[in-house]
Amino acid sequence: MLTRLFALLAILLIIFGASAFYIGFVHYQKATPTLPAVVPKDKKYVALTFDDGPYGLPTEQILKILNQYNIHATFFLMGSNVEKYPLLTKQIVGYGNVIGNHSEDHSRFLPVFTRTRLAENLAKAETSITKATGLRPLLFRPPYGNASTYMLREIEREGYTVVVYTVDPRDWDYAHSPASQIVEQVVRETVPGSIILLHDGRDTQLNYPRDNTITALPEIITKLQAQGYEFVTVDKLLQTPAYKI
Ligand SMILES: [Zn+2]
Repeated sequence: MLTRLFALLAILLIIFGASAFYIGFVHYQKATPTLPAVVPKDKKYVALTFDDGPYGLPTEQILKILNQYNIHATFFLMGSNVEKYPLLTKQIVGYGNVIGNHSEDHSRFLPVFTRTRLAENLAKAETSITKATGLRPLLFRPPYGNASTYMLREIEREGYTVVVYTVDPRDWDYAHSPASQIVEQVVRETVPGSIILLHDGRDTQLNYPRDNTITALPEIITKLQAQGYEFVTVDKLLQTPAYKI
């Protein structure tokens, strides 16, 4: 009886260990951008991207800053937030910015979703985005930058271009990323063709402070412009369409 119990425990441990290993080390990997940035030799293109919105006031403040400097960014939207802020979603596009899909609910487990569940998740976000703007996005950014070979293949089969980032000042972490640190890291790490990751939202959390990002933004823009950088949207940087026609 005891031997059987031990055998059962051992089997369970092996199964658990193997799954943990698979999820932790095999399936999870940081996604790499599908396409390399296309940077003409005489241009210093850089793309600002904002994730996890639309997020109410912080998104409005970011739009205002982008307008003031007459530049455009790319916003990777969560379907559940688009449902909350359809007018703001429309405004993002109305101001000349580009939008992409950032999944319905920012699930950490997208890389291990079944094909059907993954397709449903993307489609749900896509439907909300289309309802709000009339556009069907073709750019997708995986939540947490997590992906698996299988997931990337499925997403690309759906027609999406996977867009990750090359500069990550971890601005999502308000407590440990003050504005000055965000500015310093972004300016230090940016090279022609960089895709800068910033956040107007914070995954599924409500009312997360975004002042660090908002304070950092004008300084990032002026400092990079002073170095000759030109802000473009991701579709222009990667030379790939942003929307289905
Ligand atoms: Zn995100």
